[in-house]
Amino acid sequence: MRCPKCGQGRVLKGYLTKHDQCPNCGESFEGLNADDGPAWFTMFFVGLFTIPLLIALGVYNWFSMPFNIAIICVYITLLSLILLPPTKGIFIAILWYLRENK
Ligand SMILES: [Zn+2]
Repeated sequence: MRCPKCGQGRVLKGYLTKHDQCPNCGESFEGLNADDGPAWFTMFFVGLFTIPLLIALGVYNWFSMPFNIAIICVYITLLSLILLPPTKGIFIAILWYLRENK
């Protein structure tokens, strides 16, 4: 989630709000709109990391079904919230790289 040019300044100023330019080196982030890409990749990785948990909970019957559902809901919510900002930072860095190396 750091500036792809200098590696120091933060790309995001809030949870998901992008800076207009790097606070450290002044590199412009204008036009680097990640749109829905980070959300799609986050959903992909959350699904990828959730499937083993679902299989384990289903096969081993450690807990009751309502507790399993509660665990899965909390797990998916937390994992989504944790993965979304880094995924957006990666997307903005990729877009910056593609803009700089046309
Ligand atoms: Zn920078």
